[in-house]
Amino acid sequence: MGYYAEPIARLIEELSRLPGIGPKTAQRLAFYILKMPADRAARLVQAIAGARESIVYCSVCGNFTDVDPCSICNAPHRDRNTIMVVEDPKDVVAIEKTRDYKGLYHVLHGVISPLEGIGPDDIRIKELLARVASGVKEVIIATNPDVEGEATALYIARLLKPLGLKVTRIAHGIPMGGDLDYADEITLAKALEGRREL
Ligand SMILES: [Zn+2]
Repeated sequence: MGYYAEPIARLIEELSRLPGIGPKTAQRLAFYILKMPADRAARLVQAIAGARESIVYCSVCGNFTDVDPCSICNAPHRDRNTIMVVEDPKDVVAIEKTRDYKGLYHVLHGVISPLEGIGPDDIRIKELLARVASGVKEVIIATNPDVEGEATALYIARLLKPLGLKVTRIAHGIPMGGDLDYADEITLAKALEGRREL
């Protein structure tokens, strides 16, 4: 016999699978949810289900979207000659918050990581190659400044440079090992401005 009624135990177990949520936090959240007014709990459930049902990956850039192609790929005023390569949809949000970048994005959904068995074919590199074939002039590689992010940047640069593209890497305003989406907007804007050619 456990400490909790079975439905509570299940809720705690599911919550503890979320990133950054340990067992204690999971328990606190579960009890909080149980004490919530019923309509708020229902809104939470609907928000999770609704996001999961309506959000897809943009067929062009790979970002999360509820319309395909996404609003960034579709925006007429954006610079279609520049593509910024990022690891994750949350990095798009981080760069968009700087309001400094007017090009398009390409979300890799991961980085090359031999230790975790993730190779070039497991992330969206093929899709990037297909995209740059249509008149793109600059590809800015904004993978995180850690070992995998740097290795992935170099791998992509080696594929793109022979195609005659300008390939740049965002500057190291972001601390080594840091996450793009944890950097503040000014640091990110500076990192973008100070990008160097690979
Ligand atoms: Zn898109």
